Amino acid sequence: MTHFPLTPTVSANYVDGEAATRPDLLARLAAAQTQRAHDDLLRQLHTVDQVRAPCIVMDRRTLLDFASNDYLGLAQHPSVRAALIDSANHTGVGARAAHLLGGHHANHAALEDKLATWTGRERALLFSTGYMANLGVLGTLIGKGDVCVQDKLNHASLLDGARLSYATLKRYAHADVGAARRQLRSCPAQAAMLATDGVFSMDGDVAPLRELAALCETEHAVLMVDDAHGLGVLGPDGAGSLAAAGLNQEAAPVLMATLGKALGVSGAFVAGSAALIDGLVQFARSYIYTTAMPAPLAAAASAAVDVARADAERRQQLQKNIAQFRDGAAARGMTLMSSSTPIQPIVVGTSAKALAVSRQLLDSGFHVPAIRPPTVAASQARLRISLCALHKNSHIERLLDALAVALSANAKMH
Ligand SMILES: *Cc1c(COP(=O)(O)O)cnc(C)c1O
Repeated sequence: MTHFPLTPTVSANYVDGEAATRPDLLARLAAAQTQRAHDDLLRQLHTVDQVRAPCIVMDRRTLLDFASNDYLGLAQHPSVRAALIDSANHTGVGARAAHLLGGHHANHAALEDKLATWTGRERALLFSTGYMANLGVLGTLIGKGDVCVQDKLNHASLLDGARLSYATLKRYAHADVGAARRQLRSCPAQAAMLATDGVFSMDGDVAPLRELAALCETEHAVLMVDDAHGLGVLGPDGAGSLAAAGLNQEAAPVLMATLGKALGVSGAFVAGSAALIDGLVQFARSYIYTTAMPAPLAAAASAAVDVARADAERRQQLQKNIAQFRDGAAARGMTLMSSSTPIQPIVVGTSAKALAVSRQLLDSGFHVPAIRPPTVAASQARLRISLCALHKNSHIERLLDALAVALSANAKMH
């Protein structure tokens, strides 16, 4: 047992016997928590006991789930599960080490090849999560004195990556290519990256990728696209938003996408030129200083890619579900955002109202979370409905009816 001295060490400005007056960190945290609760912004954990997509048992209630990013319904696909179990039986579970220190398994290498082929890039590199992939790429490519231009609605991990890189972060109004151009023109001499979500995670719209790529070409900036919500869903073969926009590796040199959303597994990858990938292996700290993704997850993701590519019917069904939801919502007078993706938000305004509608939906058997600040802007609190290929016609009709009831019951609320 360690024994700490009972009296602090004496420093220059320490008066013997007088307690230090510095603020208490844990008290400050508790105060922030109280403030959040007061503002209807408190986050709460709910425990999922069972998943039988598109249904879940959460807090012992069976619900139709409209919150999952498993857009193609692959998380429980038999061949994805079998690949995981089979690999675990052969390789064990954990990777045992970082990629560079013996943790890089043949399953990882095979998955990287498959992802590069799918996305039409020269090479790909796995990361344990999308958050880490974004930190790794930004920390490697940009630094002090450089500029990172980003859409205001980009995912938190892109913003955090830019902050951690010490580059100057310049944000532009959502999807506003003119504003992005002004930001780049304001610093013509500095090395620059422009980073955007392919599909915006809380709005569901697709970035103006072709225009941004053209801008990056004339401004000599590197375009990075985070396609977490596009891969598997958009484009020929489900190859993502860049494939849908016809942007190859030259036009969009840095592609990041995750394996935990439409692919139903976990992890992420960066795809691009061999030079980019080699550089990341050398310099991306979130790649180097962490244990490799478990090999069974790589095997499962590999199986998921095969299903996602081969089973076009899942994508078609998803598109039908999106159309059904949008038509039904419009027929009931609901205001939707201009999203053609599985992410279909309904903005209601205040956090209190979003929570009330979400709770009423929960009582009717639907899981539709309220998304509140700081995840979205103040007064932009919303219900984020996410659709998947496994939703049946009747599920969507029932959700629409329940939504109409819950929205009108809370219409007067502020
Ligand atoms: C989910 C998400 C991430 C983070 O990916 P994880 O693998 O969950 O860490 C990054 N970017 C976007 C746009 C996302 O939606």
